[in-house]
Amino acid sequence: MRNIKRYLTSLLGVILIFSMTGCSSIAENATKTVTLSKVSSKQNIYKKELQPIKNITLVNNKRAVNGNLKVSYIDVGQADSILIEQGTSSMLIDAGNNEDSDTVYNYIAGQGITKLNYIVGTHPHEDHIGGLDYVINSFKVGEIYMPRVTSNTKTFLDVMSAIKAKGMKITVPTVGETFKVGNATATILAPNSSNYEDLNNFSIVIRLTFGNNSFMFDGDAEDISENEILSKGLNISADVLKVGHHGSSSSTTQAFLDKVNPKYTVISVGQDNSYGHPHKSTMDKLKAKGIKVYRTDESGTIVATSDGKNITFNTKPDSYAFLGRGPSASSKSFLSSGSSTAKTVATLVPKSSNNSKIVYYTPTGKSYHYDKNCRALSRSKKILSGTLGEALSSSHNDPCNICAGGN
Ligand SMILES: [Zn+2]
Ligand SMILES: [Zn+2]
Repeated sequence: MRNIKRYLTSLLGVILIFSMTGCSSIAENATKTVTLSKVSSKQNIYKKELQPIKNITLVNNKRAVNGNLKVSYIDVGQADSILIEQGTSSMLIDAGNNEDSDTVYNYIAGQGITKLNYIVGTHPHEDHIGGLDYVINSFKVGEIYMPRVTSNTKTFLDVMSAIKAKGMKITVPTVGETFKVGNATATILAPNSSNYEDLNNFSIVIRLTFGNNSFMFDGDAEDISENEILSKGLNISADVLKVGHHGSSSSTTQAFLDKVNPKYTVISVGQDNSYGHPHKSTMDKLKAKGIKVYRTDESGTIVATSDGKNITFNTKPDSYAFLGRGPSASSKSFLSSGSSTAKTVATLVPKSSNNSKIVYYTPTGKSYHYDKNCRALSRSKKILSGTLGEALSSSHNDPCNICAGGN
């Protein structure tokens, strides 16, 4: 399949080059620009406008009357990929990094699956949609759910090409919308806004219920999205919570955790990752409530099985160990729940970084940017600058996804 993908990519490149008169060099740039302008015109990549739809009943769920719900948090290192199976129906939430394509494919195929009823690309970061094009090319696919946001990365454009090549379009889900995965019911909880500074907050958040059991899948949704979900007042209780953003301190506010009130959490995270995930504050919150933690960096692929009453795991609970401390507590003060007043300073510095490098940020923005002309800053009236070291120890300590290698 990789060969086919490579072939298609080069074929596309050749066609684009031939279609541009007088262009014999910078082929890669040309390809990117042309494809991007197609994507950013947006008019035809989405299946429908934002509008509530009725419950979808799958045609092929005849055998799904009884049986278990199986949720596999596939070990894709510092990334997410979750396979949900009920009866003869299935849903894949994210597909790891590009390099995880084989792992994800092999796991799905290993379950005897030939058709994925639903594919969800929570948000356009590589560690979530990297392997999606390969998955889309490899299986029959029912619906593809993605948020209404584009990216100019090759990874994102590869996914768009795969969707187009399959003659499919993206479905943008609406908050409150429900659909069936076999006998399990999925409800969309986020995103609740159409504009965020950070791509993570575009994450599609799903609550899945099966009998008396419930699961929550948070993608990389951060505090902003969690607060929006809380303000909606929907039922967000869950037995199992896939912790947002790989256990980063940017997610899992105390208020959100209290409301979801999970018995178990799963953290999809890579060993010794450069982000310092999971962060101490998140692990402290889970530990304080005695919530069991299952993590892919310690146990590999985590499989949770529900019979509608009880949930069992394929492995024993893991540790509350953390890798980094994350952003300072002061930047999170508006979320303070009175737990700790100690100010922690970010100890996580990207490996290749130079602390005296000049970076840019807005007065209220959490992200720092390497590029003063970064797209994410284009609507900001006031842009401040400082050294990377200063930014990392301030509230502007989150690397921009577009220009500073954020995630
Ligand atoms: Zn991520
Ligand atoms: Zn992300």
